[in-house]
Amino acid sequence: MTLTLLFSAPDRLWPAYREALPVALAAAGIDARITRAADEAPEAVDYIIYAPNEALTDFTPFTRTKAVLSLWAGVERIVSNPTLTQPLCRMVDDGLALGMRDYVVGHVMRHHLGMDAHIHGLDGRWDQVVPPLARDRTVAVLGLGALGQFCATAIAALGFETLGWSRSPKEITGITCAHGPDGLHDVLRRTEIVVTLLPNTPATENTLDARTLALLPGGAVIINPGRGALIDDAALLSALESGRIGHATLDVFRTEPLPAPHPYWAHPRVTVTPHIAAETRPATASTVIAENIRRSQTGAPLLHEVDKKAGY
Ligand code: NAP
Repeated sequence: MTLTLLFSAPDRLWPAYREALPVALAAAGIDARITRAADEAPEAVDYIIYAPNEALTDFTPFTRTKAVLSLWAGVERIVSNPTLTQPLCRMVDDGLALGMRDYVVGHVMRHHLGMDAHIHGLDGRWDQVVPPLARDRTVAVLGLGALGQFCATAIAALGFETLGWSRSPKEITGITCAHGPDGLHDVLRRTEIVVTLLPNTPATENTLDARTLALLPGGAVIINPGRGALIDDAALLSALESGRIGHATLDVFRTEPLPAPHPYWAHPRVTVTPHIAAETRPATASTVIAENIRRSQTGAPLLHEVDKKAGY
């Protein structure tokens, strides 16, 4: 039987997936027709390959659809859609994880080594400030899922004392894990660099607010490639002004693109990157999509299915 797959995502993604999806589907032994047609009969669609877009917001007519397969790791823009009764899978992709690891390690090392002082020039001063060894610095990763765990393991492999925080208890070699609100407070009190890789859910909004930012040692650095809503922006700006927070490297924002007048753009202790920390890579992501369709068709459990109640 030929399956009908609806590719419902922004236009810019189509050229790469038009190449990659047929290759991955063929490799998984799936006979499928991929359509982009807005007028495709919804009741004929077997699977929806999805990234947030204006054209598809009502999933009700997709009565035959067995799963919605997200191209994005973060699903906050679809997970609470009341018309979405079909199972939703998020993207966990090697390309995404490798990209995030590179971003996080790069920015951790920048702050650990104090590179900015040399890049911006010391104006003829021979200030021999030697950075500590990685083993003498503590880094925390908030969120120990597919991306957080991968990044935390890479940070630990460089020698940093690495702390991690998640919703449920975890044991990960080389990482001191904590969970729950008390666990967060302990982690923040002990860390000089915090990486936030939590999903955007009602429970994670403003994880870093005035109260939790105040727990960090003076001059601590925040690296947020997770989601903008994890941070209370006003509290962060105030902590940056007071010097309590030394620097914030931010890749994600409540409004994207970050509006031109936003104080983050011009702040001397904020680095803005335009949501480029990690991108889903079409070749590897297509393999994940094909595998999930294969599983669904053979009655096996789906990979990376979202817990709609928890929101991630
Ligand atoms: P994931 O596998 O779903 O992991 C989420 C982690 O957060 C889990 O460890 C989870 O705890 C923890 N968590 C969730 N709610 C929590 C809470 N209330 N308190 C404490 N911990 C909580 O997600 P992922 O694949 O690692 O991705 C993480 C996020 O990165 C995505 O949601 C997305 O927002 C962001 N992202 C950004 C980019 C970018 O380019 N900037 C790219 C991709 C993804 P449990 O382990 O106990 O469930």
